[in-house]
Amino acid sequence: MAPAQGQLVFAPLGGVGEIGMNLAIYGLGDERRRSWLVVDVGVSFATEEHLPGIELMFPDIRYLVEERRNLAGIVLTHAHEDHFGALLDLWPQLKVPVYATPFTAALLKAKQLGEPGAPEIPVTVVQLGSRFQVGPFDIELVSVAHSIPESNALILRTPHGNVLHTGDWKIDPTPVLGLPTDETKLRALGNEGCLALIGDSTNAVRDGRSPSESDVAKTLAELIKAAPQRVAVTTFASNVARLRAVADAARAAGREVIVVGRAMDRVVQVARETGYLEGVQEFRGQDTYGYLPPDKVVALCTGSQGEPRAALARISRDDHPEVTFSPGDRVIFSSRPIPGNEKAISNVINGLIDQGIEVITDRTHLVHVSGHPRRAELEDMIGWVKPRTVIPVHGEALHLHEHAQLARRCGADVVLCRNGDLVQLAPGNPGIIDEVPVGRLYKDGALLVTAEGRTIADRGRLSFAGIVTVALAVNHNGELAANPEVDLVGIPEVSGQGEPMAEIAYQAVVQTFESLPRGRRRDPESVAEAVRGGVRAAIASRWNKKPMCHVQVLEV
Ligand SMILES: [Zn+2]
Ligand SMILES: [Zn+2]
Repeated sequence: MAPAQGQLVFAPLGGVGEIGMNLAIYGLGDERRRSWLVVDVGVSFATEEHLPGIELMFPDIRYLVEERRNLAGIVLTHAHEDHFGALLDLWPQLKVPVYATPFTAALLKAKQLGEPGAPEIPVTVVQLGSRFQVGPFDIELVSVAHSIPESNALILRTPHGNVLHTGDWKIDPTPVLGLPTDETKLRALGNEGCLALIGDSTNAVRDGRSPSESDVAKTLAELIKAAPQRVAVTTFASNVARLRAVADAARAAGREVIVVGRAMDRVVQVARETGYLEGVQEFRGQDTYGYLPPDKVVALCTGSQGEPRAALARISRDDHPEVTFSPGDRVIFSSRPIPGNEKAISNVINGLIDQGIEVITDRTHLVHVSGHPRRAELEDMIGWVKPRTVIPVHGEALHLHEHAQLARRCGADVVLCRNGDLVQLAPGNPGIIDEVPVGRLYKDGALLVTAEGRTIADRGRLSFAGIVTVALAVNHNGELAANPEVDLVGIPEVSGQGEPMAEIAYQAVVQTFESLPRGRRRDPESVAEAVRGGVRAAIASRWNKKPMCHVQVLEV
C-alpha cells in the first residue's frame, strides 16, 4: 500500500475547557488544501452575570467560514443542545450538507418549525450503526447509551488510520429505551487499530460507574405510586427514556400524564413520530389538568434548570394559567443542575416549598443519572478500543486533566489541547502543530455579535455604573449658547451630603467648559473629551464609581 499523503488533523473549536458549545473539526490533506469534517455545532447557555441580555453563546466559526469551500459536511452525534443547538443560527454562514440519525433530524426539524425565520436545513438522514462517506471521510456510527435517543460515536477511517470520536456516552446495559453502547463494534475497532480516541470527559472526576436509567425508572415508580396527591416531574425534555419511565410509573399508579411546557410537547411529538414512545399511553393536554382528581395526575414539566419562563418556575410563582399546585403535592426534580444554574433552581425550589409543596431531588433519591461515563466506564472504553492516543474533550480543565491522567494510567499517550489548537493525529506522534482562530459568538436578540465586540462590554459597564448624557450648544465665539442638557440614568439621585447628583454633573459640565481656553472650546471633540472627564471625576468623587458619559456638542 502506498504511504498516505498529507496529514490527518483535529481541532476543537468549542467545548474544551468550557461547558457546552461542542464543535470539532477533522482535516485530511496538507496545509495548502485540507478537506474538513465538522462534528457537532453546539450552543451554551450564558448564565454569567457579566453578559447582560445574552442567553446563548456559540462557537465563533470564522475559520469555517474562511474554509467554507473545503468543508465536506457536518455530522451531528446527537440532539442535545450542546451538540446541535447552534446549527439553526450558524448554518446559513456555511450551507454545507448535514448528516444526522432519524431522531436528531426530526428534532432539528421540529425546532426549526418552532422558530420563525429559522433556515430550512437539508439533512441527510443516516441510519443507526450505518457507514457512509462524507467527502474523503469514511464514517461509521457506533450506537452509545446516553440521556437522549440515538447518541452516536463516530469511527473515522482514513488512509492514516482510524479515529474514534466518542460524542457523549455512558455504559448502561439497561437503558429503558434505545440501544446500549455497542461494545462489540468498539472491541472490533480495537482489533482493527485506533490511532486516537477523542472523548467525553464530563464525569472523569467520578469514580465507579453510573447507575442505570432503569434504576431511576424504579425509584420514580415508587415515588409516584406513594404520592398522596398530585405529582409533577421535571426533567430534561430530550430524555425520552425518562419521559417513558414517568409514563409507565403513572400508568402503574392509575394516573394520567399531562405535558406542561413547549419544549416537552415538541420532544413528545418527535418521540412518537420516531417510535420511541410506542406502546406508551396518550398524554393529556394542560387544559384537562384542572378536571382531574389530585391522585389521578402526573404533570411532566419543563424547567428543571430553573429557567424563569419555563413551566415549573411559573408554577412555583403561582403564575401558570392552567397548572397550580397545593400543599402536600409532590415535585420531583429528575435532573441535576447544569453548572451556573444552581441559583435559579434554588429559587424555584424555595418558591415551591413556600407553597407547602414537597420537593424531591437527586440528593436524597435516585431520581436522576448522568448520561456521561465515570472512571470505570472510561477505562472500559480505552480497554476495548486500545487507542494509541487519547485527546480529552467535552469538559472544563479539571475534567480534561482527570481524563488525561486516567488515559495515561491505561497506557495511552495523551494530547491535552485547547479550543483552536490544531492537532496532527498522523503521520508521526500526535501533537499540536498550529492554531486556528476561535472565539465566542453571542446571540443578542436576533443578531450575532462577537465576544470581542464592544456591545456586551458596554452593556456590562452600563449595568454597573449607569450613564450621563450631556448636550452642549457652543456658538462661534466659543460660548455656551444655552444651558447644557444633562441626563443621568442608573446613578443614585443624591450624594452622601445630600446634593443632587444631576446638579453635580451639571456644575461639572459648566465648570469644565469654562476652564477651557477659548481656542479649544471651538473644537467639539476636545470639548467632549474634557467634559466627559470632568463629569466622570465629579460623580466618582461622591460615588466611588465612574459612570459612562456621552457628550454631544452642537456648533451653533
Ligand atoms: Zn449529550
Ligand atoms: Zn454534551
